[in-house]
Amino acid sequence: MTIVTRFAPSPTGFVHIGSLRTVLYNYLYTKQNDGKFMLRIEDTDRARFVEGSVENLQNVLASVGLIPDEGPNNPGDKGPYFQSERLDIYQTHIKTLLDDDKAYYCFCSSDRLTELREEQQSLWLPTKYDKKCRYLTPEETQEKLDAGAQYTIRLKVPDNTEITFEDAVRGKITIPSKDVDEQVLMKTDGFPTYHFAVVVDDHLMWVTDIIRGDEWIPSTPKHVLLYSAFGWEMPKFSHVPPLLWEGWKKLSKRTGDVSVESFLAKWFLPEAMLNYISLLGWNPKTTQEIFSMSELIEKFKLSDVHRAGAIFEESRMEWFNSEYIKSYETTTLWNKIKTYLGRYDNEYLEEISNFPEEYILKILEELKTRMKKLEDFKTLTQFFFTDVADLDPELIVNKKMKIESLTDVKTSLTVALEILENVENKLESIDEIKNTFIDEIKNREMKNGQVLWPVRVALSMQQFSPGWLELIYIFGREKSIQRITKVLKQI
Ligand code: GLU
Repeated sequence: MTIVTRFAPSPTGFVHIGSLRTVLYNYLYTKQNDGKFMLRIEDTDRARFVEGSVENLQNVLASVGLIPDEGPNNPGDKGPYFQSERLDIYQTHIKTLLDDDKAYYCFCSSDRLTELREEQQSLWLPTKYDKKCRYLTPEETQEKLDAGAQYTIRLKVPDNTEITFEDAVRGKITIPSKDVDEQVLMKTDGFPTYHFAVVVDDHLMWVTDIIRGDEWIPSTPKHVLLYSAFGWEMPKFSHVPPLLWEGWKKLSKRTGDVSVESFLAKWFLPEAMLNYISLLGWNPKTTQEIFSMSELIEKFKLSDVHRAGAIFEESRMEWFNSEYIKSYETTTLWNKIKTYLGRYDNEYLEEISNFPEEYILKILEELKTRMKKLEDFKTLTQFFFTDVADLDPELIVNKKMKIESLTDVKTSLTVALEILENVENKLESIDEIKNTFIDEIKNREMKNGQVLWPVRVALSMQQFSPGWLELIYIFGREKSIQRITKVLKQI
């Protein structure tokens, strides 16, 4: 039997990082079983539909490389993939349930239902439909239908029984039927509710495994009842734990700052994000932390997903990201940065494209260990592509380094200039630069910091930057001389 999984989002906006993890688990499980992973859009709640969100979702999945095998973009034989295009299918199936006495018409007005709910709430009772219409006679029902009364269609929950299902993560789950609400399956507007559509679609689309967030556990008994009402085989359920914020606040679906889009826009590498979130909820039973996609596919096990919620920490994801950044060949990394720049900061890309690629690669080679996100590339490198900034005395005068005044700065920079201009060797390697400067400073009976602090600041005009050594190395002798001369002129 071919394994079929699905991701079934409601298109209500951006893609939450927790949803991405659900997609990932579906994807890993499917790939390791040579199955098919499907995308289905659950858009029957028209009030919550957000224009553009389906396109956005598909772009996000493509950006992170988790591309469904079947879905709106690449239809197979199980479509349509939008629930809003499957309304006639739900109509046929609801009729079957009505005919088999597994569902019933409900004519209760929304006012009555509100009243009922409020009353139950005031008594601290669980809010449930009181089954009033379940006991209408067939004649009474027909009479109301003939009179054109508005109705919904509800699930008939069997009395005095237990509903049981096996969950790959949680084990066996049993719920007494008295605790299950007689759920609306079909709304007055002829649209199905989530509970009804999800079961019909999962069955008709041959879904064998449902991997989704554990917030759906309370709904699953209703689904189980529907499978048995239709006489359908049940898929295997795996309910995965939620992602939590630092501080245990459940990641809210509407919090934009935990959207995958926002992390992509901060230039997190998709492979680092996926690696990190794969470990939020899954225990690989080893101390290894960096997993390639093929390793994840090989090693991931649904039975090693734990029940407790996992805490999402952006700073932890940054660590994974920096590990990936460091591991890439500089040219590979540069190509990735170019892609991101093209997408998020084309202006900067154009600006630096005027410089020889060799120069950019040299910068990147020295700086990649300092980058947590690709986004840092700009902040770290901007001054390499611009002229010397205005002198900031507050920054360059540094009492700790024995630079008490701008006069001291002038003395030190003049010494640095002298070294750069006069030494015999070419100052082409880090070692050459280091040895030369240390020797020359010693010869002049000065302290290292006294010369090197102003050199670092003069070359970068930044509070934080790579060290003086890397700066001279990257700029090269000529440019370093030019920049220091320009700073000296400002004093
Ligand atoms: N449409 C549901 C959601 O938005 C799908 C839940 C499920 O996977 O069954 O999460």
